[in-house]
Amino acid sequence: MDAKTGLLKASDRVQVMIYMRALPKTNPAFARITFDGKVVYKSRHNIITADEITPEFGKRVGELMKEVCGVEEPHKAPSFGECKYCPVTSADCVDRVETAKVYEGETDDF
Ligand code: SF4
Repeated sequence: MDAKTGLLKASDRVQVMIYMRALPKTNPAFARITFDGKVVYKSRHNIITADEITPEFGKRVGELMKEVCGVEEPHKAPSFGECKYCPVTSADCVDRVETAKVYEGETDDF
């Protein structure tokens, strides 16, 4: 279970899913145990069932860990949402994102 102070975010759910995946693999006391997870917000909660931790999810987490822990530099994914809080200026960071992306287009959907 993880308690959050902000609004519901998909990354909160994935964070708990990673815990659900990692604990049985890193602590022998939980090796044969599967967990349900829960993300709790101020006025709601989000349940994650054990069967959502699929082999595909485990594979993707493993690939991410190999990239993060590998000898090669991980791919960069800067975003305005993070850069706007970062004290590093564009003089020192060529990847800094200074403005929010604006998507434009036309659709008949709405
Ligand atoms: S400004 Fe550069 S260092 Fe700071 S969050 Fe953005 S990409 Fe990362």
